Amino acid sequence: MSALVDKLTSDSLKALKPYESARRLFAASESGQQQVWLNANESPFANPYEVDDSRFNRYPDCQPSKVIQSYAAYSGVAAQNTLVTRGADEGIELLIRAFCTPDIDNILICPPTYGMYAISAQTCNVGVLEAPLNPDFSLNVPTICEFKDKVNLVFICSPNNPTGTCVDPQQVLAVAEHFADSALVVVDEAYIEFDWQNSWANKLSKHPNIVVLRTLSKAFALAGLRCGFTLADPSVIQAMLKVIAPYPIPEPVAQIAQQALTDEGITLMRDQVDTISEQRELMKNALLTFPSVELVGDDKANFILFRCAAKNALMQYLIDNQILIRDQSKQRGLDNCLRITIGNEKQNQQLISLLTSFFLSISPEQQDQAL
Ligand SMILES: *Cc1c(COP(=O)(O)O)cnc(C)c1O
Repeated sequence: MSALVDKLTSDSLKALKPYESARRLFAASESGQQQVWLNANESPFANPYEVDDSRFNRYPDCQPSKVIQSYAAYSGVAAQNTLVTRGADEGIELLIRAFCTPDIDNILICPPTYGMYAISAQTCNVGVLEAPLNPDFSLNVPTICEFKDKVNLVFICSPNNPTGTCVDPQQVLAVAEHFADSALVVVDEAYIEFDWQNSWANKLSKHPNIVVLRTLSKAFALAGLRCGFTLADPSVIQAMLKVIAPYPIPEPVAQIAQQALTDEGITLMRDQVDTISEQRELMKNALLTFPSVELVGDDKANFILFRCAAKNALMQYLIDNQILIRDQSKQRGLDNCLRITIGNEKQNQQLISLLTSFFLSISPEQQDQAL
């Protein structure tokens, strides 16, 4: 059987390694031990919802109109600018499938950044070109501009995962204008609730080649729901609707999304964003007390990135003590970097005390070595 699978699989798929999601990396450890997950930028808050099962015998709407209307209102755009998808990840894939021809077209990414742009392109046999961020994690605009007519989509993540940096709006604008008649510029705003004033959603009509990606997975605390949004010119939305599945949004997902997007739901989200931001300050201050820790990037989202020479020993120590954070050291320019998702107060305190005991347990010389 494996010979048949081998024969039928394209060479590009054979070469592809599946995305190492935080959950895939640690799915094995379901030992019943209470683990603290600070590795996937999930919210620590699990909010209650109600589900009405009286229409579960019917197929759901392709684009549930109440969800579309609520999210459009929340974002300050019109319903015709709004698409709801199975997470922002599906939005990424639909953009690639709608706007890139396999084996011919390319996307442009700016690493270090979110891994799914490249993986999605590779699964569609679409090329991935790179214009790495500058050492300060700003966009390298001249390099990006050299890719004119070589790429159909330019992915910009702001706030960027995993650096936590916001991309200067002037830079996004320069890129959008340069590619105005040749590519869509996709601004991934998965963390925009932590940096709300920098959203591009309300500038779409002036810059019709900008596409904004959003999600309920982060600030809205609904990663388990798989619900995201694309905000764009109506012509872009219409093209994406050609490649989307007929029933992409399960009825319970639509119901829960609608509850999350009521005034009360949005107020709750904003309160939780405030709480997480306060906790992030405490975590940052704690990290600053460790001489061998260097904060990296910025804190415009619900996570903190830091560099530590003894990162392997530290990761192992935290795993042994049931706390998971994320190793980002394989990303370009992020050697020895680890990322902490901000949890609730108890989880954060637990992590801070483990960090303290770890750094007390090794000598200052060891702290600056790869252990
Ligand atoms: C988490 C994340 C996503 C994925 O969001 P989903 O809606 O859960 O698919 C997209 N982009 C970035 C930058 C993310 O960090």
